[in-house]
Amino acid sequence: MLIKLLGVRGSLPTPLRNQEYRQKLRGVVSEAIRQGLEDETQIDAFLKDLPPHLGQVFGGDTTCIAVHPASGEDIPYIVDCGTALRPLGDRLMEGPCGRGEGKVHIFFTHTHWDHIQGLPFFKPMYIPGNEIFFYSPFDNLESRLTRQQIDLFFPMPFEQSASTKHFVTLKEDAPIRFEDGTTVDFFPLRHPGGSFAYRFRRDGASFIFATDCEFTGQDLERDRADFEFFLNADLLVLDAQYTLDDHFSKFDWGHTSITMAINIACKWAVKNLVLTHHEPAYSDAKLFENFKSAIEHKRALQVERPRLYMAREGMQIQVGRRAAGTTEDDARADSASAGSALEDSGR
Ligand SMILES: [Zn+2]
Ligand SMILES: [Zn+2]
Repeated sequence: MLIKLLGVRGSLPTPLRNQEYRQKLRGVVSEAIRQGLEDETQIDAFLKDLPPHLGQVFGGDTTCIAVHPASGEDIPYIVDCGTALRPLGDRLMEGPCGRGEGKVHIFFTHTHWDHIQGLPFFKPMYIPGNEIFFYSPFDNLESRLTRQQIDLFFPMPFEQSASTKHFVTLKEDAPIRFEDGTTVDFFPLRHPGGSFAYRFRRDGASFIFATDCEFTGQDLERDRADFEFFLNADLLVLDAQYTLDDHFSKFDWGHTSITMAINIACKWAVKNLVLTHHEPAYSDAKLFENFKSAIEHKRALQVERPRLYMAREGMQIQVGRRAAGTTEDDARADSASAGSALEDSGR
C-alpha cells in the first residue's frame, strides 16, 4: 500500500499568510548571503539543503488521505473529505472518473466540517456514470452530507449531483473485503460526537488512520488487549494536534497531545508513527519546533520504535509491498525531501 497524506491540517484550512511567507523569504535570502550563493546553477542544491522551516510548508488543507492498494487500480481508497479532496478530484478527472467510468470508495472518520467540506468541490461526484461508495459506521451519513450541501449553503444540492451514490453502514466485527485483497475495519474513538479509526490491511501489512481522538494517561494505564486493533501496526497516522502544554487547557476537546501520541504508540508497539491534524494556530516554524521536541521525548523514553514522522501535505509512505504503478522515485521522493526534517533518524 502507498499512503499519501493530502491534507494534514486540523479544524480549519490554514493558508500561508503574507507575514509568514515574508519571514520565510527573509530567512532564505539571509541564508543565501551567508552561504555566498553566486550563480543560478547553485540554486537547486541550495534549496534542497535549506532548513525545513524555510524550505518547506506543512500545508493548510484539511484532512484527506489516499490509500493506493498494490493492484493496478489507480483510484485510491479515500479517507475523509477535507479541503485536500478538491485537488485529488481534479487529478482523478484525468482518468476513468472524467469519462463517467470511475468507482470511488470514500471512508469517513466523522462529519465535522474539516472532514467533509471538500466534498461539494469533488468533481467526479458531478459526472453521470461515476459510482461513489460512502462508508462509515454512522447510519445517517447520507442525511449528514445532504444537510451540509442544501441550497442555502451551496449552489448545487448534494442529491442533485449526477453520479450514482451508495451508502454502506459499517458494522463492528465485520471487516469489508475488496476484490484487490484489501480489508478495512474500524475502531471507535473518543471525540465530541464520535469518530472512528480505520485499519487497512493487505498482504500482512497494516495501516491505521486515527484522527480526531483524545488519548490520555488513563488510556496508557489500560490493558493493551483493549487496544488490540492498534497493536504492532506497520504505520499509524495519529491525531497529535496540541503540544502537551496547550492540551492542558484543551482537555476534553477531542484531540491528543504530541507527547501522549508518542507514549501510546510506544505502548502499542507501532512501527511507524505519523503525527497529524496540526493545530491551525501553529506556524511552520512552531510545527518544526514541536517535531524536534517530539524526537527529544522519544529519545528520553529510550525506545527504538516507533519511527517518527511529522505529517506534511504531499507526504507519501509505502507500507508493505510496493503499489503497482508507483516508481521507486515516487516513494522515495518524500523521504528524500523530508529527510532530516520530518523524520527522526530511527534512534
Ligand atoms: Zn478534525
Ligand atoms: Zn472532529
